[in-house]
Amino acid sequence: MKQYDRVFLSEPHLSGKEQKYINETLQRNAITSGGPGVLSFENGIESFLCEGNFVCATSSGTAAIHLALLLAGVQEGDEVICQSFTFSATINPIRYLGGIPIFIDSEPQTWNMCPIALEEAIIARLELGKKPKAILVVDVYGMPYQVDSINAIAKQYDIPVIEDSAEAFGSRFRGQPCGTFGNFGVFSFNGNKIITTSSGGALVVKDLESKKRAVYLATQAKIPAPHYQHEEIGYNYAMSTIAAAIGNSQLEVLNERIEARRANHFFYENLFENIDAVTVFSAPSELFYSTYWLTTILIDPIKAKGLTPNKMRLFLEDYNIETRPLWKPMHCQPVFEQYPYYGSRLSETLFQTGLCLPSSSSLSQEDKKRISEAIYVLFQ
Ligand SMILES: *Cc1c(COP(=O)(O)O)cnc(C)c1O
Repeated sequence: MKQYDRVFLSEPHLSGKEQKYINETLQRNAITSGGPGVLSFENGIESFLCEGNFVCATSSGTAAIHLALLLAGVQEGDEVICQSFTFSATINPIRYLGGIPIFIDSEPQTWNMCPIALEEAIIARLELGKKPKAILVVDVYGMPYQVDSINAIAKQYDIPVIEDSAEAFGSRFRGQPCGTFGNFGVFSFNGNKIITTSSGGALVVKDLESKKRAVYLATQAKIPAPHYQHEEIGYNYAMSTIAAAIGNSQLEVLNERIEARRANHFFYENLFENIDAVTVFSAPSELFYSTYWLTTILIDPIKAKGLTPNKMRLFLEDYNIETRPLWKPMHCQPVFEQYPYYGSRLSETLFQTGLCLPSSSSLSQEDKKRISEAIYVLFQ
């Protein structure tokens, strides 16, 4: 078979101005964390979000989740309600703090946290005398979660919400940006995300006091004194100036990147339109605006007559096209399986029947042609 260049699932997409921004940083000899480049990256994100949001740039999305949990007051032994259908980085920081993850299943419209299972879990934990310290919800694959119902429940039981929008920078619910709906929001600028700083993230908070506390914790919890005074454990979680330089150049093309990911999604909707066995996962209504960070599909096991997601993945590998199973739910991962779980196991079905398709914003017409040909051969 012909040798093709690999079509990646989600690869970094440079703006072309990275070098210029990095050179400016090098010329200033500003090779550290913090400083003007980081501030302007934070300001850039703040102005992309709605008013009343303050941003602390971090060394990764995982670090931002860890800081959000610290700000929410999570301590050893505290329970944190969290979405099971996600990447492990959502959950790991709960364990860094010695917290207990309480896993909640997905609901079918957004694949994010199920409000019914959430309330069931809260009631059950309260009966055990354990009030959850936070609700950690995800906008998986760029799809906004059920903002109205989840936040109403959080409010009713007075539990803060952390929104892991690592995959949803640029997504919106009712016009409002993801990452701004809870008490805390998180973005990731890892190489595979919608824009990148190579490695990096951001924490979104609701007031200047919280931002100051986040920056303080992210910079080793130093109390200003010539000798450095320490009264709490700190972290080295600040974003580097080189990462921020890349981020500032990437912010310039954010809207183009969103459009390109959405265009990929509509390409796949067309491609699978007449293929009965495949459903492209799409927004449930116009209230939900997804960047479609990754376009994902479900394969109906009966209609597909034996074609499993794994067989499809291996078939596309022959064309050097990368795909990936959907997230294996965290309550099924060996490292987390001893923790409580509430729900009806939808996320397990998603994992068994779904696949993530190549979704880079740099996906070319040629790449799309090769994908179309492969899909045509597979389903003919
Ligand atoms: C990528 C990702 C993270 C972690 O972000 P990093 O910047 O890689 O640390 C967290 N949660 C979700 C859902 C992610 O996809």
